[in-house]
Amino acid sequence: MVTPARRQYLQIKSQYPDAILLYQVGDFYETFDDDAYVTSRELQIVLTSRGYGNDGERVPLAGIPLHALDNYVGKLVQRGHKVAICDQVGEVGKGVVDRAVTRILTAGTLSEPNLLPTRQNNYLVAIATARGQAGLAVVDVSTGEFMVTWFSPDELPVALDAELQRLAPVECLLLEGSQQEAYQFPTKTVTVTRCPPYFFQREAAQTRLCRHFGVQSLDAYGCADEPQAIAAAGAIIAYLEKMNSALLSLLTGLRSYRTTSFMALDAHTQRNLELLQGTRSGTVQGSLLSVLDRTVTPMGARQLRRTITQPLLDLRELEARLESVEELYESPAMRSRFTMCLQELGDLERIAGRVRQGTAVRNEVLGLRDYLGVIPRLQELLAGCDAAFLRELAETLDPCPQVIELIERALVRPDAEDDQGDEGRMIRPGFHPELDELFASIRDSRHWMVSLEARERERTGIKKLKVGFNKVFGYYIEVSNSYVKLVPPDYMRKQTLVNAERFITPELKEHEARILSAVERIEEMERSIYADLLRQLGVFYTQLSATAAAVARFDVLLSFAEVAAHQGYVRPKVAHGHGLEIVGGRHPVVEYTLDGDVFIPNDTHLESDEGARILLLTGPNMAGKSTYLRQVALITLLAQIGSFVPARSAHIGLVDRIFTRVGAEDDIASGKSTFMVEMEETATILHHASLHSLIILDEIGRGTSTYDGLAIARAVVEHLHNQTRARTLFATHYHELAGMAQELPHLRVYTMAISDDERGGIVFLHRVMPGCIGRSYGVHVAKLAGMPPGIVRRAEEVLQHLEAGIDGTHDVFAHMDRDSADRHKSNGALLKEQAGSYEWQSEEARMVALMLEQTEDAE
Ligand code: ADP
Repeated sequence: MVTPARRQYLQIKSQYPDAILLYQVGDFYETFDDDAYVTSRELQIVLTSRGYGNDGERVPLAGIPLHALDNYVGKLVQRGHKVAICDQVGEVGKGVVDRAVTRILTAGTLSEPNLLPTRQNNYLVAIATARGQAGLAVVDVSTGEFMVTWFSPDELPVALDAELQRLAPVECLLLEGSQQEAYQFPTKTVTVTRCPPYFFQREAAQTRLCRHFGVQSLDAYGCADEPQAIAAAGAIIAYLEKMNSALLSLLTGLRSYRTTSFMALDAHTQRNLELLQGTRSGTVQGSLLSVLDRTVTPMGARQLRRTITQPLLDLRELEARLESVEELYESPAMRSRFTMCLQELGDLERIAGRVRQGTAVRNEVLGLRDYLGVIPRLQELLAGCDAAFLRELAETLDPCPQVIELIERALVRPDAEDDQGDEGRMIRPGFHPELDELFASIRDSRHWMVSLEARERERTGIKKLKVGFNKVFGYYIEVSNSYVKLVPPDYMRKQTLVNAERFITPELKEHEARILSAVERIEEMERSIYADLLRQLGVFYTQLSATAAAVARFDVLLSFAEVAAHQGYVRPKVAHGHGLEIVGGRHPVVEYTLDGDVFIPNDTHLESDEGARILLLTGPNMAGKSTYLRQVALITLLAQIGSFVPARSAHIGLVDRIFTRVGAEDDIASGKSTFMVEMEETATILHHASLHSLIILDEIGRGTSTYDGLAIARAVVEHLHNQTRARTLFATHYHELAGMAQELPHLRVYTMAISDDERGGIVFLHRVMPGCIGRSYGVHVAKLAGMPPGIVRRAEEVLQHLEAGIDGTHDVFAHMDRDSADRHKSNGALLKEQAGSYEWQSEEARMVALMLEQTEDAE
């Protein structure tokens, strides 16, 4: 037998099977059964149990106090849970109190600022698929950003995965019954919400969108012919309508975009290049973002993330950004004036949203007024710039004087002097005549109350007599016990405390009644005037959000200029073409984190039409190969987001996609071996790369036997060289591959320079130089890593043995033609040959000459 209370719980819970039900019981929200296990684990709170029924059965229970709700709910939601809040809605004390679910919170529908990360968007996405196509709709209900894109069958799944990686949604809507595993979400805590078919049904979705925007057709939104895009966007509207229709008020437009308008960065590449997140830290630390982020405003910080992951392909737009950054870069004084302006701006974007949704509190509205006050100054500074793009931004900014005027006329600052003696007024006198009358009606009583204390002290001679107020007993006169005998006869006892008595008088009662009844009406009226004020301000939402967006874009450009000035970056030259010419390039993140050590700059010359198309880089582990490869990719990316770059100079032929195949991450979850993952990634590159792409391959073929690995690596390189012809950097520890230079005219062999130290060890010079060292130095690296000396000695012996037998049983060159194998075995000869076919930079020439001498000495 279950109790009526338990029955009520089970009945409500059955309606929210996929949510954690927080069930109000007095001053607590309780969770039961499985919800209790999850809640206690996630929130680190005590798990207990409660009996129900008469057979002594107990159920697990974990509860949180009412007042701590926000904090705990925030945690649950951020960890990917859906939370339904069930409040007591009926009168307490008559049987089982009525309860109802009053709110459902999910990660993607939160708009409370204190539950959201400030410098990051909070995206809810919907994915619709049919006939091999996919639509992706994206919304941030705290900023009003609403966009949609779609993918053709040949773009899937790579392009969709890349977008999901870039957006890192916190919640995703999928059609009931579809497989979550089909999609790669970068965050483990993504909330996946299954929606019924009518959410995604095309005609219904289209009607819903048209109704929401108040239009006849979707032509103006650029997605009218894309059924999956419409389905996905329609599903978002249906979901928000169901969850909290107030959220819909921010969605004033829908922006269609194609991922092909930007440089493509597949999901692996975004991770490998550590654009927004450091692999080791799992946070922003160690990422490109961490170096680039000198933004001042929250919306600027959010914009920077979008900018980094959407490099441009449009030269005009790029030049506009670069020109702006250059102007800002050149004048530190101007930068500091701008920075000072931006520092006075808070989260204009999200506050505008909350005003529109009717949820902004008074301080936020007052903040909005202050922020808008800064806009004219910002506008003036921007209008005075030379760069056309900065002047355009000045025109986009709208200081909304009507908004300022309205707020100033309507709201009292909480800390402002109150000249009328109307304590705690929220709405300013003069804004609403009826409210003013109410205040006037009690002004006499209030004055009477204020002066009561002094009057009664005088009359009774009790110096320590106090007049006070509390919610339960109302106004009172308090006299401590030692003076009680002095109280006059008209005092009536109201409450007894430990060492004082509280009294009232008939006159006090009268004034109190007058004040309290008016106060109640005042509060009610202020609430409605305030709600109305928000509605009036909400009308300006479009201007406010456009202004916030312009501030955000400017903040990013200013951040680029600051970074360029502090880190010594230069303006890159970007043009159509297939060249890549970097002089003195550096890795932006490694150089930033090298503590006190100097980063060694390196050059890069690639050209897919003529000359060096593929750069083959050999060298032992830890020599700096990966750093060099990534630095080239990052410099290219920086150039195409409109940033300056860490180099002495850089000429970049526009790159349409950057591919990387770096390191070997085992995909244990999917049961794939390192080698399988590696081959899949390589296959993707070979299928999708074009003449305009930049390809970074690190250690292809490492996950298999030497022969297999060499064979695959060689075949891949040949294909890239002869067919794809994309600019390619290929790092390998198979120095055997260097022999390919003989047959592939556009392949150049480089190595990381190393010098021996006096104790027979090695020193990494981190300098890229032409040629190849026919040794892998693995044993040296093992020694550096602290392997026991006995092991190192034994390894050296084995190595010598193996090297001695190289012409016999261990011939790793057996698959090569005789010529290159011979040449390969003679390092000195190869180096000389490379030296002959390369135009030396003076420094490099010296380095190679040195090496050649050393090799010859050894011979
Ligand atoms: P590899 O890929 O050859 O194993 P890495 O690229 O991982 O080597 O580099 C190893 C370490 O060497 C880096 O973590 C960095 O500290 C240092 N390093 C790499 N390149 C440079 C450079 N150009 N200047 C200074 N230090 C460097």
